[in-house]
Amino acid sequence: MKAAVLKSGKIEVVEMPVPELKDKGAIVKISGCGLCGSDIVKLKHNSVPDGTVLGHEIVGEIVKIDSDSDFEVGDEIVMGHHVPCFECTYCFGENYSMCRKFKRTNIIPGGFSEYIYISEDHLMNTVFRLTSNISEEEISFTEPLACCVRCVKRCKLDFNANVLVIGLGTIGLLMGQAVREFGFNAYGIDLIQERVQLAKKLGFENAFRLGNLEETVSDMKLEVNPSGFDAIIMTSGADKALDLAFAAVRDGGTINVFSSVKSDETAYPNNQIYYRELTVTSSYSSSPDDLEDAFNLIQNNRVKVHGLTTVYPMEKLNEAIADTLSNKIMKAYIKL
Ligand SMILES: [Zn+2]
Ligand SMILES: [Zn+2]
Repeated sequence: MKAAVLKSGKIEVVEMPVPELKDKGAIVKISGCGLCGSDIVKLKHNSVPDGTVLGHEIVGEIVKIDSDSDFEVGDEIVMGHHVPCFECTYCFGENYSMCRKFKRTNIIPGGFSEYIYISEDHLMNTVFRLTSNISEEEISFTEPLACCVRCVKRCKLDFNANVLVIGLGTIGLLMGQAVREFGFNAYGIDLIQERVQLAKKLGFENAFRLGNLEETVSDMKLEVNPSGFDAIIMTSGADKALDLAFAAVRDGGTINVFSSVKSDETAYPNNQIYYRELTVTSSYSSSPDDLEDAFNLIQNNRVKVHGLTTVYPMEKLNEAIADTLSNKIMKAYIKL
């Protein structure tokens, strides 16, 4: 089969054997797989070895199965790639994405290949059968939306909270919609005007283009609440994002870190956190429950993702990455 492997910071399509069904689980023929920001980070930061097959936002069809679950050959599915153990300290604390088993479990070899092996644990916890006629590109947003759902839950917001989403790439656009689905008010901010417009179209209460930071923040506060936003979700790790977050949050508010930054040396404003009694929290990846919530939100057309993707064949994965990085497109979907 064909698979796209990592080789010296680039992707190369190679031949490799189709995975075998040695243990319980299933073989899935991949129909397509979304290109995630985290795939690009792994590639750019060389944080995974050469030969790795990236891709985890998978849509496919079960072609072979040995399982106690009720899945069958022919089922079209979407899935999450990590499964927690549900019985360790991390899982009891609901930090599922910190569970050692969660980090260890994965699909084999990866989403940018023609076939994968998925385990019985996956089938029991993180695989969903497609039942509505929503397109495969749309349902491929299940995993990224699940990460957003988890982020909103971890903000522990009060009724009617005003939330500012910094960064309106696909994750920001999903995030704002998730915020609204949980009953809070979503505002967005980005440097790119088209993305600001798109956020408004997708139902954000309002979205703003970031100009001069102080002016933009005071404009936003005038419109939303003079004391500031109850919560800020940082889906961007740009230098300005941190300054913006601390300027826009109200005293006693919450900042959720949902993005990596270029360097670990970022200076956190200790005194602002202390004197203003801010809560700084974060959210990483998603749990099986979040995946189910996300799956339902897309299947029931509650969260809209239509038209956000551009389709590329596997051979053009490098081009898809370049186009994503240059903001030429919102999101790439690799069609197998
Ligand atoms: Zn992802
Ligand atoms: Zn665990």
